[in-house]
Amino acid sequence: MYTFAGTAYERGKQHGRELAVAIGDRVGRSLPVDLDAAQRTRIAQPWLDATEELDIDLVREMAGIAAGSGTTLAEIVLLNCFEAFKLQESEEKGGCTVVGSTTNGQTVIAQNWDGNPQRAIGIAVHRHRDPDAPDVAVLSSPGGLGWIGMNEYGLALVNNDLVGGPIARTAPSQAIRRVLLKQTDTSSALSAVQAISHPALRSYVLADAAGVLAAVEVLPHEAPATAPTAATVVHANHAVAAKVRAVEDRKLQESVFPSSAHRASRAAELMVQTYQQADQRDRLRRVLRDHDGLPFSVCRHPDPTEVTHTVASVVFDCTKRQAEFYLGLACEPDAYEVVDFGATALSVAHGRGEAALTEETDGLASSSSAPSSAGTNSTNIERSEGIE
Ligand SMILES: [Zn+2]
Repeated sequence: MYTFAGTAYERGKQHGRELAVAIGDRVGRSLPVDLDAAQRTRIAQPWLDATEELDIDLVREMAGIAAGSGTTLAEIVLLNCFEAFKLQESEEKGGCTVVGSTTNGQTVIAQNWDGNPQRAIGIAVHRHRDPDAPDVAVLSSPGGLGWIGMNEYGLALVNNDLVGGPIARTAPSQAIRRVLLKQTDTSSALSAVQAISHPALRSYVLADAAGVLAAVEVLPHEAPATAPTAATVVHANHAVAAKVRAVEDRKLQESVFPSSAHRASRAAELMVQTYQQADQRDRLRRVLRDHDGLPFSVCRHPDPTEVTHTVASVVFDCTKRQAEFYLGLACEPDAYEVVDFGATALSVAHGRGEAALTEETDGLASSSSAPSSAGTNSTNIERSEGIE
């Protein structure tokens, strides 16, 4: 686990320095090789501008990563913006199975995070200690803002790639995920989901310490489709809501994620079979390590029929504010990390936290965020050097 502490720019710089070699490798490996520096800058610019409007601290963080690792801001933006490239041309590909439960006073969401070998390299837990926002632990790639995670309030976010439909040059989803993880509960995160412009089809599942479990599918240019609140949720890499299904590219989806239908139906079946299980963590772990239908199983093993396999899995106990991260296959993890937010008091005092969150929500609407201290200057310098 890597821990970064301080302002956005400081945390980014720590991240960049510590993972400089891995970030440089990822830039070389994952960004299209036929793009020169000017082209990278031109492609990154609209995504960077939109991220600055959404949450300028995330731009400061990416500028810090670039400065610390000796890369450019454009390269770091593009590492966080697979939406800028067509799925077929993208070097990193992912799939996932999500499952969640809120029952008997216990709320847990979990996910198998599947990726191709490219995407698996360097995946790790990054913990951010932020003086201005809730502390957060995310599963992240080198140079990345994070794929899935939980914050100190016990708000957790997991999500699934969906395929097809339009692409909008907004803030990339990795930035959006971090913005959602700055909220305190599911309700405020859902409000943020509604207010944000989304770049592509995606499914988010959110849960909080109070036991509110919600699923929402987002798409560009339209309001998200929020599913009715339920005691259990399962999701794989195909859309469920009618309006999202209407724009999804089902043919491409079935060729990229042929296991998706089976993973979703099997996970749902297991949730029914295990409804009497008292401990929800054990129940969800049971689902994540299931091998029914191999190679199309929930625990995806390397197999030529589909390019992705399970690289990591998470079990987020929102009630206890404990985040478990497992690296490797869900059935036989190679390593694991536990971040126990429940063991310590909230780092952001309630009053201060709520004030910060009000600013955050305002920022979504008005694009204003009070710049502060060195981070701003550094970001501006980096921007002028790196991207404009
Ligand atoms: Zn397995």
